[in-house]
Amino acid sequence: MRGMSASVHLAMEQLKMNGVRMTPQRHAILSCLMDTKSHPTADEIYKALSPAYPSMSVATIYNNLRLFVEAGLVRELTYGDDSSRFDADMSDHYHVICKNCGRIVDFGHPPLHDVEKAASEETGFVVHGHRMEIYGLCASCHNE
Ligand SMILES: [Zn+2]
Ligand SMILES: [Zn+2]
Repeated sequence: MRGMSASVHLAMEQLKMNGVRMTPQRHAILSCLMDTKSHPTADEIYKALSPAYPSMSVATIYNNLRLFVEAGLVRELTYGDDSSRFDADMSDHYHVICKNCGRIVDFGHPPLHDVEKAASEETGFVVHGHRMEIYGLCASCHNE
């Protein structure tokens, strides 16, 4: 068994404080998300975990992901008709998305607070946040 990383341990403590019981399946889903930078869909998490947890259903994955999102441990990325992807990296970062293969790569740009400020000044809105995504072709798709 792999050693539990500090961030998974912290996340488990946070869930416990929210009154969420930690089960082996729940722990596996959380670890799977925290160990990857691939922003997987629920289906991809299911495929990764089903060999070790044959009784786990996609619905179980969805329910747990929803719970993690509500607890503020995971962020949900929605892209129109495509199924949601999930990101356990809650730090400020943007995403670069390949239009061909759908790969999502983290992009560590400082948050665009000046754009929010400009939007607020021009429209009178109280701004709560923004969403920015960069689209293109990843290196391997571009080189095909
Ligand atoms: Zn690509
Ligand atoms: Zn990300």
